[in-house]
Amino acid sequence: MSKTIYPNQTIGILGGGQLGKMLGQSAQKMGYRVGMYDEGKTACGFGVSHYTQVGSFNDQEKVMDFARSVDVLTYEFENINGEILTKLNDSTYLPQNTDFLLTTQNRLNEKKWLGENGIPCAAYMAVNTREDLIAALEKTGYPAILKRTRFGYDGKGQFKINNSSDLENLAELSKILEAECVLEAFYPFEYETSVVVARDVFGTVACFPPVVNQHVAGILFTSVTSSTIPEAVQNKMIAIAEKIAHSSELIGVCGIEFFVSGDGEVVVNELAPRPHNTGHYTIEGTNVSQFDQHILAITGRPIIPVRLLTPTLMVNILGQHIAEIPELIKHFPEAIIHLYDKGEPRHQRKMGHFILMDEAVEKLERLVESDSLLKRWRDAIKMEEN
Ligand code: AMP
Repeated sequence: MSKTIYPNQTIGILGGGQLGKMLGQSAQKMGYRVGMYDEGKTACGFGVSHYTQVGSFNDQEKVMDFARSVDVLTYEFENINGEILTKLNDSTYLPQNTDFLLTTQNRLNEKKWLGENGIPCAAYMAVNTREDLIAALEKTGYPAILKRTRFGYDGKGQFKINNSSDLENLAELSKILEAECVLEAFYPFEYETSVVVARDVFGTVACFPPVVNQHVAGILFTSVTSSTIPEAVQNKMIAIAEKIAHSSELIGVCGIEFFVSGDGEVVVNELAPRPHNTGHYTIEGTNVSQFDQHILAITGRPIIPVRLLTPTLMVNILGQHIAEIPELIKHFPEAIIHLYDKGEPRHQRKMGHFILMDEAVEKLERLVESDSLLKRWRDAIKMEEN
């Protein structure tokens, strides 16, 4: 049963990282009160909340207490305790529900769900032991990627196996194999793309324009609205995104990452049932942002048809880039810089992002290829890979 949540009522956000912060900013702009729950008392989203609560995501009492204080509850990331949320359902309005959350919290369940819905992904096998791994490699062939089924992000908890000699890296392999894993065949993609899709309580679906993404060492570096994705590929991505939104009965937004092969085959890499890093460009680039759409959907209001305003490039700012902000402003005086206020600029930690807009998308695409500052920043991420 859906409800309308009116301005001045309270939206509770579980998670106070940058996604929680940007959701909070959207909610406040629309006149809602924001309560935020996080494990750390210095969570960056706390600065934009009317009130905050600190507690473990596994502390059922505290999470329930927080849930009772809000009119609608949402979450900013998928690694919260989904089991606790299933217990909240009766007493709390959680329009996103928990089924899709629980599915996407586990890579294996996510892939099974995609298969059941006729949506393609890279070949995979469940793996729990070294023996399983060796048997699975016979099916997938080399290279393949071993991934933990849970709690992985930004390439963490993953190990690429290029050939049989990589199996000698016992320390790394056994560390990953301490938890349930999945072995994925390496998909020889030509490029990586993503779409953020929104669906409201009326069943209306709207997709944000696809972006082409560049990952370095498993971490997203750039996303650009693209002139080069063929229309047929875009149509396949949009059809898959719409199917995912309807089949999961999504309320809010979901980020969908794709691999695209040289001959235009599209497979899903990963789902995230929340706002997505590759959708940050929508704050400036589209008529309504992914955060606004999410707030509209969970407050029981109709989402808005999406329009690209200007081609946009988003670049993530990691801890190792922070010292170069003055240089960034000199290099790109027109950059719109978002800093999340996360405190210590640790190596590889996402601290912010910046946006460049240009009517000529080719110019933005050329920057990704050849700009000197972007090249230096990319190399600073790569160093971790070696
Ligand atoms: P993930 O955390 O699973 O999204 O992986 C992070 C990045 O690693 C992806 O964006 C790809 O660049 C790369 N990657 C992960 N899985 C695969 C795969 N099966 N085939 C090729 N590249 C992959």
